Amino acid sequence: MEIINRTQRMRSVSRKVRREQDRTIGLVPTMGALHEGHLSLVREARRMCDTVVVSIFVNPKQFAPTDDFQTYPRDLTKDTMLLADYNVDYIFAPAVEEIYPKNFSTHVEVEGLSDQLEGAARPGHFRGVATVLTILFNIVRPDFAYFGQKDAQQALVVRRLVRDLAFDTEIVVLPTVREESGLAYSSRNAYLSEGERKAAPVLRRALARAESVYAEGERNGRRLAELVRAEIEREPAAQTEYVSVADADTLDPLERLDDRPVLVSLAVRFGKTRLIDNVLLNRARTGKTGALVQP
Ligand code: AMP
Repeated sequence: MEIINRTQRMRSVSRKVRREQDRTIGLVPTMGALHEGHLSLVREARRMCDTVVVSIFVNPKQFAPTDDFQTYPRDLTKDTMLLADYNVDYIFAPAVEEIYPKNFSTHVEVEGLSDQLEGAARPGHFRGVATVLTILFNIVRPDFAYFGQKDAQQALVVRRLVRDLAFDTEIVVLPTVREESGLAYSSRNAYLSEGERKAAPVLRRALARAESVYAEGERNGRRLAELVRAEIEREPAAQTEYVSVADADTLDPLERLDDRPVLVSLAVRFGKTRLIDNVLLNRARTGKTGALVQP
């Protein structure tokens, strides 16, 4: 395993792998502080591809000034040890100036999809995500890139980006990995106090409530959202930011749930920590185009 810090080195390594060895390249983009969720993506990349690159880059452009860029957990030594166990070929861990050189002035915007949900709560977030992924895809030129359903809107934005700008990369979206309590793994779970950590599994319980009332036949989007919100609010430590019931391909809010796939997503604060989670309803009908895990 080689740790690469320089764009030029990463570019020449992947060019060599592609041209001389005719091997497929899988890229797992991350911000580090790796956990089981990230590792599930790495495992699948290892299974599918000849060469696996994991990028570790805390991307300043996807954080608002009030966000947690400065305090975001960073531990490259621990991440490196974990990835060595997974037989990763290259870690690409560039400095900020390597990705955004002086006078950097070009940005990528996926219109529409980027304005809803997380985009509305965090203006500029998906512009930062789309911009950094465009740069990473151009440097690494992966055949496959791996993303988690945990960040469902991100997966949708990336799929649209790749289609619209004709990147020669296939996007693979994998299911959310959870702790035994039901809490989805997230680097931000590290911020939770002991009490907040005990409270946080309410997110999964609220989403499970959506699944069960949907299975019982509830088809009113607003009512479904209210039930989810009520479940969250049973937990005093939780402050709901939004609960959304939306078309899983377009993210348009749904009043009436018909036979389209539905994404129920939420953002909830526990003290200073903001967590997101989601569940897909009607997965059996998911198409190939959405941000959806394979049914
Ligand atoms: P991050 O380091 O938070 O930018 O996440 C890197 C990738 O890991 C993204 O594609 C996330 O969607 C994915 N990811 C994060 N948490 C999980 C999880 N609990 N299960 C599956 N994938 C995840």
